[in-house]
Amino acid sequence: MNLTTDIESIKGVGPKTAKQFRVAGLATVGDVISFLPRRHEDFSEIVAIEAVTPGKQTIKARVVATEVKRVRRGMTVTTAVLQDDTGKLRAVWFNQPYRATQFDDKQEYFFSGNFEFRYNRYQLSNPSAEKASEVPVSTDRIVPVYRAIRGLKSQLVRKVMAELRPIMTMLPETLPGDIVQSQQLVSYSEAVIGLHFPESARDITAARERLAFEEVFQLLLASQLNKQDNKALDGHAIAFDRTSVKEFVGQLPFDLTNAQRIAAWEIIQDMERPTPMNRLLQGDVGSGKTVVAGLAAVSAARAGYQTAVMAPTEILARQHAETLTNLLGSFGITVGLLVGAVKGTARQELYARIAAGDVDIVVGTHALIQDTVKYHQLGLVVIDEQHRFGVKQRQKLLDKSDTMPHLLAMTATPIPRSLQLTVFGEMDISILNERPANRLPIKSQLVSPVSASKVYDSIDAEISAGRQAYVICSLIDESAESDKKSVEAEYKKLKNSVFGHRSIGLLHGRMKPDEKEQVMANFKAKKYDILVSTTVVEVGVDVPNASVIMIENADQFGLAQLHQLRGRVGRGEHQSYCYLMLSDSQKPSQRLRELEKSNDGFYLAEVDLQLRGPGEIYGRAQHGDLNLQIASLADTKLLKRAQSAAEQFITNGEDLLQYKSLQTAVDRYRRLTTLN
Ligand code: ADP
Ligand code: MG
Repeated sequence: MNLTTDIESIKGVGPKTAKQFRVAGLATVGDVISFLPRRHEDFSEIVAIEAVTPGKQTIKARVVATEVKRVRRGMTVTTAVLQDDTGKLRAVWFNQPYRATQFDDKQEYFFSGNFEFRYNRYQLSNPSAEKASEVPVSTDRIVPVYRAIRGLKSQLVRKVMAELRPIMTMLPETLPGDIVQSQQLVSYSEAVIGLHFPESARDITAARERLAFEEVFQLLLASQLNKQDNKALDGHAIAFDRTSVKEFVGQLPFDLTNAQRIAAWEIIQDMERPTPMNRLLQGDVGSGKTVVAGLAAVSAARAGYQTAVMAPTEILARQHAETLTNLLGSFGITVGLLVGAVKGTARQELYARIAAGDVDIVVGTHALIQDTVKYHQLGLVVIDEQHRFGVKQRQKLLDKSDTMPHLLAMTATPIPRSLQLTVFGEMDISILNERPANRLPIKSQLVSPVSASKVYDSIDAEISAGRQAYVICSLIDESAESDKKSVEAEYKKLKNSVFGHRSIGLLHGRMKPDEKEQVMANFKAKKYDILVSTTVVEVGVDVPNASVIMIENADQFGLAQLHQLRGRVGRGEHQSYCYLMLSDSQKPSQRLRELEKSNDGFYLAEVDLQLRGPGEIYGRAQHGDLNLQIASLADTKLLKRAQSAAEQFITNGEDLLQYKSLQTAVDRYRRLTTLN
C-alpha cells in the first residue's frame, strides 16, 4: 500500500464506503491521510462515575439496563444505565435506537460524551461507545474531529485512519531538512500523526505549527519566485521627463502630499527600468490615488506610450476620464472614454483612434479588454480598485501588448501586511497613508433606528449649510424575506415625509448606464441635496461637497465596504459625518464599534482580517483557491519566520527540483497568484 493506492484497498472500506469517500474528494490513501481533523476533543482521561463533573467525560462501565422511547414524529430517545465500581449514571442518545441492543452486559465499554444537565437531570449526552477490550478510536483518547463526510460515521473515518497509521509513520519529509531543523519543526510524518493520533495538546500544537509553516512557506516562496521571474521580463524603459512632470505638478490646484510624492517617485523609477513595473498603490479612501496615476500617465505619454486605465464601474470610468481630462487637457494629452454606453460609429471611431495612437490615455471599464480593442504602444496599464477584477482580466489587459506594459494596480481597500507578503508578494507596494492636509477626520456614529429623526435633523442642517448627503440602502426591491430597506421605498419615504422640501436623486445598479451617469452629474452639479443610492457609489465616487452619509442597515455590510462607503464624504474641506444606522436596537457588533472609533483603513483592515479571515477582505475567488488548511494569514509571527526562510532558500540558490512535493505545491501557488 502506498499513497496512490485506491481507498477500496483499505481494510474496512467496501465499495459503498469508498463511494462516499470519493464523493468527498478522497480517492486514495494519500488523500485520506491529508484529510486533517478540524479540531480535537480531549477524552483521554477516564473518570470514576462518582467523580463525574459536567463537561466532556470518559467513563469505563458496563451497561446494566437499556430502554428505547418513541417520542413525537418518529424520534427516539434511547437511555442506558451505566455502572462502574463507584456508581451508576444515565447515558442518553437521540435517534440512535440501535444503541439499545449494541451492548453486551458482560463486557466493559468506554463512553465519551458531554455530561450535562438536560430535561431536569444530569446525563451523558450522545456519547461515543467502544469496547474496552479493543483499541479505542472515538473514546478514551484525544479524539480527532473531522469534517463530516456524508453517509459516513465519524467512528468509521477514525478507524480508517487507524488502519493507515503504519503508512503515516513512513511519510517522507516534504520540506528541506535544514529548514525543519533551523525552524525547530517536527517532521512531516510526526505532524500528520500528531493531528490524527495526538497524545497530548503539545503534539497538536507542534503538528499545526509545522503544517502551517509549510503552507505559508510554500506561498511565500511562490510569490518570491514569481517576482524574480518578473524581474527577468522585457519591458519598456520609459525615461523620466523631469520638465513635464514638474510642469504637471506645478499646475495642480493643490500641493501633493508627501506620500503622493514618494509613491510617484517610486513609480517613475520603476518605469525607467527595462523590466515591467508590477506595483500596487494602496491608498486609503480619499488619499488621492488618481493624481498619482495621472502623473505616471504623463510620463508615459511624453515618451510616446499609451496608457490604459481600467475601472470597475462606468461611473468611475467616467469620473476618471473627466478628472484626467481636467488635469491633462492643457498638456495636449488626449483622453478617450471607452465604456458600454459608447456605441455604434462613435465606438468604431474611438477604436480607430486608439489603434492609431490618437488617444494617449484610454479610460474604461471591462470594455478595455475586449478583443476588438487594439492599442498603440501600450506602455502603462492602470487598474483602479484592482480587487474588483480577477487575475484573468488583469492578464488580458496586460496581454494587449507584445512587450509587457508597466502595471500600476490601485486599491482603496488597505491590505493587511500579512496579505501584502503572501497574496501580493509578487508586487512592489506603495502606500498613501496620508490624507490631503485640508481634510478633517470624518465623525462616525452608530445609530439605533429609534433615533432616526435626530439623524434626519442633522442631515437637514448640513443641507441648509450648503452641503449634500448620501443615503445608502442595499436592495432595489422590497422583498418579503428581507427587511432591508429598498432604495426605491426609501426614496419615496424621504420624499414624502422628512425631506419633502429637499430635492432627492435616486441611483441604483439596475438603471441604464446613461441614466446613472445623468444622476451622478446632477448630484455633482448640486441639483440634488440628497442622493439615495445602493452601493454603486461605494467605490471611488468623488463629490467633495457631500459632507454627510447615512448608511441604512449598516450591520449588513462588511467592514471594508462600510469604510469605502464612508469615504464618499470627507473629500473636501468640510467637516463630514457618517451615520451608521443599525437594523434593530440590539447591541452593535465589535466590527461596527471599531468603525465608529477609527478612520484608519489600514487599522480596520487588520481588524477585519482578525475577525473574519482573508477571504472576506480580498477577492473570495482568488482566496478560495489558495485553500490554506491550517495556516492563518493573520498569524504575523509565523509569516515573518516563513518569509525569512523563503528568502534564505532563494539566496542559498537552492534547487526546487530537489524537493518534489514542495515544488508541486509552489507551482500551484505560482499559477494562482501570478500576473503573467
Ligand atoms: P482616491 O484615493 O480615493 O481614489 P481621489 O484620487 O479620487 O482619491 O482623490 C480624492 C480627491 O482629493 C479628489 O477630489 C482629488 O482632486 C483631491 N486631491 C488629491 N490629492 C490632493 C492633495 N494633495 N490635496 C488636496 N486634494 C487632493
Ligand atoms: Mg479612486
